Amino acid sequence: MLAGLGILVLALTGCGRSQPELVFSGPTMGTTYQVKVVPGPAGCPPDLDHRIATLLQSLDAAMSTYKPDSELNRLNRQPVGEPFAVSADLLRVLMLSKQAFQLTRGAFDPTLGPLVDLWGFGPVDTGDRVPSEGELKEALESIGLDYLAIDEGASSVLKRRYIEVDLSGIVPGYAADRVSELLDSLGLKNYLVDLGGELRASGQNGKGKVWQIGIEVPSVDRSEVERVLALRDVGVATSGDYRNFFERDGVHYSHIIDPASGRPVSNGVASATVITPTAAEADALSTGFMVLGKDSGLKIADERGIALLLLVKEGAGFVEYSSAAFAPYLSERAE
Ligand code: AMP
Ligand code: MG
Repeated sequence: MLAGLGILVLALTGCGRSQPELVFSGPTMGTTYQVKVVPGPAGCPPDLDHRIATLLQSLDAAMSTYKPDSELNRLNRQPVGEPFAVSADLLRVLMLSKQAFQLTRGAFDPTLGPLVDLWGFGPVDTGDRVPSEGELKEALESIGLDYLAIDEGASSVLKRRYIEVDLSGIVPGYAADRVSELLDSLGLKNYLVDLGGELRASGQNGKGKVWQIGIEVPSVDRSEVERVLALRDVGVATSGDYRNFFERDGVHYSHIIDPASGRPVSNGVASATVITPTAAEADALSTGFMVLGKDSGLKIADERGIALLLLVKEGAGFVEYSSAAFAPYLSERAE
């Protein structure tokens, strides 16, 4: 199955007084990353490529559900009621997850692990099987981030009942933020980090212009740009139902699962794009807004001043709906 990629990084065209953009890329977390850096007069450290790759490897080693010995899988095996000491990264991701869980009223819920596995979107391929009502009911009993107590001061967490955490809906965005922190710490100010379509932008591109990205038309068989967005020092993420799914008896089952029903979402929202200060927030919220659907999603985004763009299937095409905070991105003419 392919990782969702709702965003296209647009190629830099023209030359003029352009500065070179260095590009560092590779595979990570079941997808790919691409980091573009405009080095400036001080240049980049010669081992930047290696430093980025090592950072991503360590985040994947800690938070993958695909690696049996990851810190996350050890937490998943930890007995109920026994404190588990967490690394700084896992603690931050769990706290950010809790914020997104609360903001989306439980629509973003990383304790969906058993349901993700049951529907075959986890490490084990289930052969596109639709689970039975009994299996769904049983899995739903162990869902709820409220069952995870986080003790920030002690850097430890405790499961109040059996839960299985799956952070796939937030870790790529968090990893983009961590690469951004690394670049900031090296004095680099102009860069675009893309981790599987979750982005973090800073400063300007090699042409001295604001970074631009394209939001894709949410289609299984086309890769076309629906919108061009200009990004200033923000994180952006798109979640969609069209790149990671299976079909059975004519029904489309997407990898985004509604924690209320235990089933893949089917509310007509084909993609949700969120722009927030960090990529981790954008990543978690875009997944949550896919679940909330058009009306609740736009209501919450407007109440909280979050920039949200939804592409909703209507008739044979898609209709755009956006929150008030997204308006500046729609009116802006990208160059
Ligand atoms: P994303 O591509 O960021 O939307 O993340 C989707 C992944 O997050 C899925 O493949 C699942 O592993 C997991 N997931 C699915 N539904 C949810 C949900 N409602 N809340 C949190 N994570 C989810
Ligand atoms: Mg996400």
